[in-house]
Amino acid sequence: MLHLRSSQFSRVMVKLGPVFSLATVSPSTGDGETTDNGEAIINLDHGDPTMYEKYWQRMGDKTTVVISGWQFTSYFSDPKNLCWFLEPELAEEVVRLHRVVGNAITKDYHIVVGTGSSQLFQAALYALSSDASEPMSVVSAAPYYSSYPVITDCLKSGLYKWEGDAQAFDKSGPYIELVTSPNNPDGFVRQSVVNRSGGILVHDLAYYWPQYTPITTPADHDLMLFTVSKTTGHAGMRIGWALVKDEIIARKIVKYIELSTIGVSKDSQLRAAKVLRAVSDSCGVAHPFKEETFFGFSHHSMESRWMLLREAVNRSGIFSLPEFTPGFCNFWNRVFEPLPAFAWLKCGDGIEDCESFLRGHKIWTRSGRYFGVSPSYVRISMLDRDRTFNLFVKRLSRIRSQRRMRLEHVD
Ligand code: PMP
Repeated sequence: MLHLRSSQFSRVMVKLGPVFSLATVSPSTGDGETTDNGEAIINLDHGDPTMYEKYWQRMGDKTTVVISGWQFTSYFSDPKNLCWFLEPELAEEVVRLHRVVGNAITKDYHIVVGTGSSQLFQAALYALSSDASEPMSVVSAAPYYSSYPVITDCLKSGLYKWEGDAQAFDKSGPYIELVTSPNNPDGFVRQSVVNRSGGILVHDLAYYWPQYTPITTPADHDLMLFTVSKTTGHAGMRIGWALVKDEIIARKIVKYIELSTIGVSKDSQLRAAKVLRAVSDSCGVAHPFKEETFFGFSHHSMESRWMLLREAVNRSGIFSLPEFTPGFCNFWNRVFEPLPAFAWLKCGDGIEDCESFLRGHKIWTRSGRYFGVSPSYVRISMLDRDRTFNLFVKRLSRIRSQRRMRLEHVD
């Protein structure tokens, strides 16, 4: 998920395998344009959360961190803690933010910090399978997050093995089920589907925040993963955290991070702590719905983006989007409809390969086949900068079905 200057890399295509599909390291082109001549590439393949830059720019120096050359040189952060490389300041802010939002229980949980939740996911696989006598099956209900299969199988581990769609899983023996809620790519709230003994669940709650979905209850699963990438938009800090009930599992997760990277960047942890503190503070000083609060800004942005996207889709006559049931959110104290970080778009009109169809219009998305389903679906990031998003909805709304065009002609 690289973000490099377009002048350097706009035409460089890098095949990274199915994690990023036919991934490119280029962002969208034509960033300065206000009118759309149809030529600029709109790259919404990755879930790069640049939408949030605007809020943090407005906050000025509130989250500036200055670190001198002599500071934080040691490997150790908190030697007495089970997670000895966790900065106490970050631990404190994680607990505080979950309390402010009410989206997860932290009491009696071990907090383990990771280099993004991607590292914690791998650490969790190691921790849950290290005593197994044969490779443990890893499953998730399709459409599943496209990185799960490739991350699981990239080292051809003898400890675990990707077994695909949890709904079709019928092997006996122990298994790990990944439950992503709300789900990437389709945004639906999920529960485990395999439902038999011998299963261990990993809950990936990257999107269980009030800008995306109603917070209905504080989550209290055995192993939960969170990340600043999708919480505050700081994907580049590479900070995630796991909330782990079982001490032995937590120790194994820590062990994996010790073996792979001997801990997690202290500089990033301190920056993350400062950003999380600013988010919690902002919730305390103004009515949560005001745009000065982080969740006020992000929720309003998502609301207006989803409204614009649904209008464009309705106009086209070709595409469709999932419909969500509104739910009561304890954070906002009101009912709202989920506003996912990705749009899960389906092509109609007899178009079988939606990714290629949209590429023809210079809109880059990720095909449903990377998520274990039909290529008539694509995943589209809803978290890019305003200019890119606005260009995208404008261009999408000009794509018309043949039938719609005939009707408009008759009108
Ligand atoms: N889980 C899910 C469901 C995600 O969508 C992502 C990011 N796309 C991650 C984990 C990885 O997050 P991080 O940037 O913290 O590695």
